[in-house]
Order: sequence, then C-alpha cells, then structure tokens
Amino acid sequence: MPNSPLILSGKIVSSAVKEDLTKRIAALKQQGIKPGLTAVLVGEDPASQVYVRSKERQSEKLGLNSQVMRLSEETAEDELLAIIEKLNEEKAVHGILVQLPLPRHIDAQRVIEAIDPEKDVDGFHPVSVGKLVLGLDGFVSCTPAGILEILRYYNIETEGKHVVVVGRSNIVGKPMANLMIQKRPSGNATVTLVHTRTPDMGFHTRQADILIAAAGAPEFIGAEMVKEGAVVIDVGINRVDDASRERGYRLVGDVDFDAIKDRVSAITPVPGGVGPMTIAMLLSNTVKSAENSLE
Ligand code: NAD
Repeated sequence: MPNSPLILSGKIVSSAVKEDLTKRIAALKQQGIKPGLTAVLVGEDPASQVYVRSKERQSEKLGLNSQVMRLSEETAEDELLAIIEKLNEEKAVHGILVQLPLPRHIDAQRVIEAIDPEKDVDGFHPVSVGKLVLGLDGFVSCTPAGILEILRYYNIETEGKHVVVVGRSNIVGKPMANLMIQKRPSGNATVTLVHTRTPDMGFHTRQADILIAAAGAPEFIGAEMVKEGAVVIDVGINRVDDASRERGYRLVGDVDFDAIKDRVSAITPVPGGVGPMTIAMLLSNTVKSAENSLE
C-alpha cells in the first residue's frame, strides 16, 4: 500500500499568518497607525492585473490602507521614478511594490533600486538582498519567506538536511538557497542549487531531503528525480491547455504531483500550496514596515 504524503497546505499556513497579522494591525491602530501598501501597475498585462487585484483585495480585507496606481503602458521611466520618489516620502505609505514585468522601455532594476529600502516590501532591492545574504534583519522576498513559514508550521527540520533548489531567479531560487544556508533554526541546511546549465540534474535532485522546485517548467519533476521520503515544495505555477476546463487551461506545478505523491513524505499542492503564502508574506512585510516606522 502506498503511503499518503502529508499535504502542506498554504491555505492553512497563510490563514495562520494573517491571524497573527490581525493582532499586530490592531496593536498598531492603538498607536494611530494603519499600515499602507501601494502597488504600482504599469500597462495591461492580464496576469499582473489579476495579481494586483488579489493583493488589493487581501490587503483591504486585513484592514490595510491599500492603494493601486494604474499607469498606462506608455508611462516613461522618469515618470515612474518620480512617482516612486513621491511614494518614498509619503508617511502613510509603508510598503511600495512595483508589479513586474514592466514594459520593455523601462529598466526594472533601476526602478527597484529607486524604492526606499525601508519600504521595499517585495524584498527585491539590493539592500534587502544583501541583508538576507548576510543574515541581517530585513525584508525577505515573499515567496521564499512563505516557504520558510510552511516548513516552520509543519515542523519540518532543515538543520543538517540537504536542500536542493531548482531555479536561480532573483525572486525565488537565489534568495531561497541563501535563506536555507543561514546559521539559524530554520536554516542550517546544506544547499545545492541547480539550473538550466546543470548537467544531470536528477543526480542532484535525487539526493534532496527537501526539494524546492522553482523553474517554471510544467510537471517536469517526475518520480525518477525524487528520493523516497523527500519533502517537496512546488513553487511553479504553469498554465497548460485543458479543453475539459471551461477556461481552456489548468494550473500545474513544476512537479508531477500524481507521479511522485506515493514516494514523498510531504508535498505542497498546486494550487493551494506556495501560492497563497506569497501575498500573505507581502502583507506581513508591510505590517513589519509599519512597526519599524514606530521605532
Ligand atoms: P524565472 O523564469 O525567473 O526563473 C526560473 C529559473 O529556473 C531560471 O533560473 C531557469 O534557469 C531555471 N530553469 C528553468 N527551467 C529549468 C529546467 N528545466 N531545469 C532547471 N532549471 C530550470 O521564474 P521564477 O520567477 O523564479 O518562477 C518560477 C516558477 O514559480 C514559475 O512557474 C512562477 O510562475 C512560479 N512562481 C510562483 C510564485 C508563487 O507565489 N507560488 C511566486 C513566484 C513564482
């Protein structure tokens, strides 16, 4: 009889995170502060619009001051930089996020670097990334921060474990690997990071006690790439055509869930795994920024 893995539910963990935030928001209210999050959306990218709407809805639900600035696709880089400069100065704004991707004529890195690191709730600013690498307190990129919360919530030990991260993006793979090597209880792991230039990737993934897949390649991690009893965190959110669905597609992860579920000890589903954590951690970073403003 195959074992059923523990399903690591981002819905449950994000609810717990938000419950804690509700208390902290109430405490801030006592001090006359309402955490404020401003999202800047440039252009009409349909996926970005969905993400921003969801961030807006969830911020409002939690009692944050949520603002979305919707700018036209033609917005010039200088115009955007001037808007960020203004938001940096606004006391009621504790968190600024610029939804990526930006239109091609705008240098995204320049825009990220214009955000005041004190308000960098996405954790993409080089100051935030530097603090993360050095193990200093700062804003941690939301998806890796959410994965840490999932591991903590389910008491999954990382110390001494071999963590293999698939993917080296600036927002998931790199910060994830750096978090796992930190000298603290939710770190202390031995980390391997694999990417598109890694020969024989399966050689590495098969050794993972904890496998974190963040490649953006639909269901490419199958049973032959996973060690028996491993913990698998599937970050991927990929659309694949599915004529049987009304909307014509379904969402799948980077991991072939059905193929590996009987082999692993725990796994995040897609959807409902890492996904809900990302916005929860964005809200968490915003509340943290508001708390910092009291100091
Ligand atoms: P990205 O495209 O910026 O980076 C993907 C990385 O994976 C790259 O470094 C690339 O070299 C590597 N890669 C791609 N294919 C590979 C393969 N076959 N083998 C090994 N390495 C490979 O993507 P990202 O922004 O890091 O996102 C990764 C995935 O996670 C996407 O599916 C994205 O939609 C999803 N995502 C989910 C959340 C969430 O909230 N759950 C948040 C961010 C990203």
